[in-house]
Amino acid sequence: MTVIEPEGSWNEMDNKDKESFRGYMKRLAKDSDGPETHATRKKTTMSEYQLESRTHAIYHVEDSVIYPALGLAGEAGEVAGKVSKIMRDSDGSLTEELREDLGKELGDVLWFVAQLASDLSLNLGEIARGNLRKLDDRSERGVLGGSGDDR
Ligand SMILES: [Mg+2]
Repeated sequence: MTVIEPEGSWNEMDNKDKESFRGYMKRLAKDSDGPETHATRKKTTMSEYQLESRTHAIYHVEDSVIYPALGLAGEAGEVAGKVSKIMRDSDGSLTEELREDLGKELGDVLWFVAQLASDLSLNLGEIARGNLRKLDDRSERGVLGGSGDDR
């Protein structure tokens, strides 16, 4: 499959990510209690998640954009599938176990969103803030309901 790389190549973005990530980990290592880990950190920003999640991206450069886009659709389907099985098998009752399973699937969705953003040289934190600004604006104008991306 031929993929047209987005402006700012995947390789360029990847190296920048790695450089930023190394700097981030050095800053964490200066903490008196030692570096934080995923398990001990209380909060993770969207940008931190984007950088750290990138270290687990092992797909080929030529598959950038396409691979995470397909993976995102697949994981969104897994979320929908689990919700449908709650309706079919559990009479719509959400148990704690099913709730936790859905949380894990949402994490998979988030991972692919982050990789897709990185492949497109977009910052996940900026995407999140931009989305909130858009919703705030729609709310102020009373157009949260309805349809159309540009309303
Ligand atoms: Mg999954």
